[in-house]
Amino acid sequence: MRTAIISDIHSNLTAFEAVLEDIGRQGVDRIICLGDIIGYGPNPVQCVDLVEQRCAWSLLGNHDFGVAYEPSNFNKIAEDAAFWTRRELERHMVDHPEETMRRWNFLHRLRVQVREGGILYVHGSPRRQINEYITPSSPYDDPRMMQSIFNLVDSVCVVGHTHVPGVFTNDLEFYKPGDLPEQAYVITPGQKAIVNPGSVGQPRDLDPRASYAIMETDDTGAPKSFRFLRVEYDIQETVDRIDGITALDSRLGRRLLDGQ
Ligand code: ZN
Repeated sequence: MRTAIISDIHSNLTAFEAVLEDIGRQGVDRIICLGDIIGYGPNPVQCVDLVEQRCAWSLLGNHDFGVAYEPSNFNKIAEDAAFWTRRELERHMVDHPEETMRRWNFLHRLRVQVREGGILYVHGSPRRQINEYITPSSPYDDPRMMQSIFNLVDSVCVVGHTHVPGVFTNDLEFYKPGDLPEQAYVITPGQKAIVNPGSVGQPRDLDPRASYAIMETDDTGAPKSFRFLRVEYDIQETVDRIDGITALDSRLGRRLLDGQ
């Protein structure tokens, strides 16, 4: 089976639509989402609806949590964006109560982890599912942290949250997609790996194109390979939409232009 894995859409509808169009050309069987559907960007309502329509399931990210429940450990810019996102989701309550309630119920039902075919899916890390960052420097700066995370992984774990795509191996290396032959990582049976597909709506690896991955699994559901893909989209359109919303800091748009 071929599964498209998307993460960290962050209400960037223009990027999300471009990625869905690209996925449509890849002949995948399903799409799954690792969370942070909303927060930061200008189109939360449309992004929640598209995830609900197009994805087999989605996880809960820290920004989804921040909007649906309580923003915690957020800086001012992220907190303001979370409160604006909540107002935006509530705004339609008067005219479209059923639709609005369906959207909230969808957000409230999102899970913090999923296990399928021996693969563990979380937004952040297996230790703190929505909040811990496993960054490209973690294996080198904090090998003990990585070791304790790998102790919680049976085979393959798929994470988002850092907005940086790549593969962590349990010999404590990190591989960027560009380090891999044809941007693909082949899983050796019995090995452990943590895979991050990068971010659809706010990439942070200095490549501003939207990022996602395609996973191939065998008949038992075990992972065979992960391929990393990038998709160009009209970044300026999202920047302009952010600039048109007072509650969203213009830096949230500017960072998209160079993938910071
Ligand atoms: Zn995120």
